[in-house]
Amino acid sequence: MKLAIVGVGQAGGKILDRLLEYDATRNTGFVGHAVAVNSATTDLDGLAHVPERDRLLVGSAIVNGHGTGTDPEVGERCVREELSEIESAVGRATTSHTDAFLVIAGLGGGTGSGGAPIVAERLGEIYAEPVYGLGILPSEDEGGIYSRNAADSLQRFVAATNNVLLFDNGAAKSAGETLSGGYADINQEIATRFGTLFSAGEIDALGDDVAESVVDSSEIINTLGERGLTSIGYASEQLPQAERGGGGGLLSRFLGGDDEPEFASSGDATNRITSLTRRATLGQLTLPCERSSTSRALVIVSGPPDALNRKGIDAARRWLEETTECRAVRAGDYPLADEDRVAVLVVLSGVTDVPRIERLQQQAADSEAEAEAREATSEEKTRDLLEYDEE
Ligand code: GDP
Repeated sequence: MKLAIVGVGQAGGKILDRLLEYDATRNTGFVGHAVAVNSATTDLDGLAHVPERDRLLVGSAIVNGHGTGTDPEVGERCVREELSEIESAVGRATTSHTDAFLVIAGLGGGTGSGGAPIVAERLGEIYAEPVYGLGILPSEDEGGIYSRNAADSLQRFVAATNNVLLFDNGAAKSAGETLSGGYADINQEIATRFGTLFSAGEIDALGDDVAESVVDSSEIINTLGERGLTSIGYASEQLPQAERGGGGGLLSRFLGGDDEPEFASSGDATNRITSLTRRATLGQLTLPCERSSTSRALVIVSGPPDALNRKGIDAARRWLEETTECRAVRAGDYPLADEDRVAVLVVLSGVTDVPRIERLQQQAADSEAEAEAREATSEEKTRDLLEYDEE
């Protein structure tokens, strides 16, 4: 599906950069247009793939290019002040081919946390196409300020979008991803999952490989719905040498090799698809949640055409229907001629039982109460400290 993407703040910009890299190296073409918005000059300078003219510095008159110091109210002001410039930058390359908008931000900081809901709201007012959010939740050990910012921002982001797809940094860290190299591994994981989802609906790039079972953008849009939260599962497997399509197989036939097809039997392909679907659903989700609270789901199976089959995809859909106890499960494939892996992506949309968000809100409320108490004590103690008896 063709997206116009706006990355707001540091995390928003860095993840946008990785999605552009993913799109360029795989030639998938799902990024129609990309704009990075930030109040910090150094963050914009650090981007590698967003073209210079699509990097917008906002709030110079307020923070002079130095960022918001993790203050979402300042972030919101910086973005509001430049909303018409952001609008023009997005509008410059938005065409009738744009299927949807995606606004990306880390919800625990300042610029993205305060600014992303404002950008999403404005795009929703101007365009008829859906506006989605990709929100990054802070890990629990980042502390109270980040939790408060994220809890407030999430509420506003959900209200301003058709769906917020969430990625929990804390869950990724506990699953063994490292923060070394400034989130490099985590951002790679984000680009793989969301790049797979959005490129799956971009069927123009597939040429002759389009089969009737292929997922198109309307299926993604119907799965994401009108409002709510989404979590994504993913699993992939390298195909054994004998089953890979492309150059190797052709060459061996060229050299007088076996005339038999080199691919595994359809039974193997079916089993592989169903076992990957289980791993994707039951393994690490971008937002850990109770799977049976899903409102709508989608399974996308990608890989070389010979490793995909209708039977496997149907079995995967049935299994997901039973596991999520949800009847609105769509399924399809995304054939990629040159791939040597089969991957399954599972979209759990409209999830409502999310313990992480309850903890986030609790952490936010505790931190708010503690900050108020501390402020009151500090005022009192400062008065005691400065007052003295003149006698
Ligand atoms: P902003 O520039 O003021 O919007 O602040 P940031 O984008 O730095 O947002 C802060 C939050 O985003 C932090 O609490 C982190 O949880 C998260 N974060 C920052 N950078 C990255 C990144 O590169 N990747 C990911 N996954 N999360 C990030």
